[in-house]
Amino acid sequence: MNDPVVKLSGLTRSFEQGGVRIDVLRGVDLAVMPGEIVALLGPSGSGKSTLLQAVGLLEGGFGGRIEIAGTDASALSGDSRTTLRRDRIGFVYQFHHLLPDFSALENVVLPQLVAGTERGAADERARDLLGALGLGARLDHRPSQLSGGEQQRVAVARALANRPALVLADEPTGNLDEKTADLVLGQFLELVRRQGSAALIATHNERLAHAMDRVVRLHEGVLE
Ligand code: ADP
Ligand code: MG
Repeated sequence: MNDPVVKLSGLTRSFEQGGVRIDVLRGVDLAVMPGEIVALLGPSGSGKSTLLQAVGLLEGGFGGRIEIAGTDASALSGDSRTTLRRDRIGFVYQFHHLLPDFSALENVVLPQLVAGTERGAADERARDLLGALGLGARLDHRPSQLSGGEQQRVAVARALANRPALVLADEPTGNLDEKTADLVLGQFLELVRRQGSAALIATHNERLAHAMDRVVRLHEGVLE
């Protein structure tokens, strides 16, 4: 039996705002197996982004336990968390968050150099990914010279560049029109499947969710 790529046990998160406490996550349990693609559904405000930020080791302040590829992330120091995130996790945000002064190619090459990949191999990997996403003729464009759908494709390539065991995506096509969203999500899922990564993808689109292996729903702070 394989170990889960991510295992959450009793995950909690509360926010305090103007003296009022909101319990956003009230004990989330979830295991995602290697290669499994899970859709995270829930209406706006249900805590999808909060949950993904926890799993992506982007924020602290959580109760409960987060295991990534068998490592208890809650027990790690800041540096080890950063290394674990860099080596195991790829993140696609709702807004692309690309580096504005760098080309599409460079945006996909850079995280590989940070992870210690050689320039030549990183370049080849970036070209392959961007080519598979239909951006072979846009390699030297900066983000501002790309359409919204093209920007999100570059963000997808960047998230997959280091072949992470776990891909997290927070409404990755939420800013795109329906036709473009379908196209980009289809390409995204195909690449994730091809490289055998597991994925947890937040969306509020039921139709897109059902293209994935399993659907979980956030409701009143727990998954059902
Ligand atoms: P979703 O992504 O499902 O729309 P979020 O995770 O963004 O939901 O937010 C869930 C709830 O947590 C919301 O009620 C939101 O107002 C609250 N929340 C999120 N982040 C913070 C924060 N940094 N401070 C206070 N409240 C927050
Ligand atoms: Mg959100």
